[in-house]
Amino acid sequence: MFLEPHFKGQRSGWIEVITGSMFSGKTEELIRRLKRAQIANQEVEIFKPTIDKRYDETKVVSHNSNSIHSRTIHHSAELLSLVEEDTEVVGIDEAQFFDEKLPNYCQELALRGKRVIVAGLDMDFKGRPFGPMPDMLAVAEYITKVHAICPHCGNLATHSYRLAEDPNTVLLGEKESYEPRCRNCYAMGNILRLGIHKKHKS
Ligand code: ZN
Repeated sequence: MFLEPHFKGQRSGWIEVITGSMFSGKTEELIRRLKRAQIANQEVEIFKPTIDKRYDETKVVSHNSNSIHSRTIHHSAELLSLVEEDTEVVGIDEAQFFDEKLPNYCQELALRGKRVIVAGLDMDFKGRPFGPMPDMLAVAEYITKVHAICPHCGNLATHSYRLAEDPNTVLLGEKESYEPRCRNCYAMGNILRLGIHKKHKS
């Protein structure tokens, strides 16, 4: 990425990534940071991919119903044309569902002096790096990994275990289809659900 002449002398922006498993509070943390910026009278905009149809079309909503107004876009390229000149902070939620160009456009926004905060899943339910997230982590100035708590053993949960049988990776998380798990309980898969989990409940 090359610095265009009109960027010279401008305050530099940066990229923050908030990542972790399902139910780890990524969106809550994104909203917390954006609200702090709003309190400081900074201009804030939020974007998310069209694929996320949970709860609300125009708001970034976290599981605890804390929400903030957002715009839905189809492709990360739209960021460049849609982000307003006077916007200081750009939030991006569910970033794992964006295309592979997302890191390029986030860097472009940072070059324009924006603080870019990106929230997304680090791994899919198979434990594989998810979409553009690995590259986002590589180009970010700051990375925050947040964790859920494993409901089976109480350790920090880093993985998203799929309870439903649907083979589609892009199936979006509801409590009944996914649960957060620690590394060990994730690796134990169904055995755990039939055995240890029951024992805990009785
Ligand atoms: Zn566990």
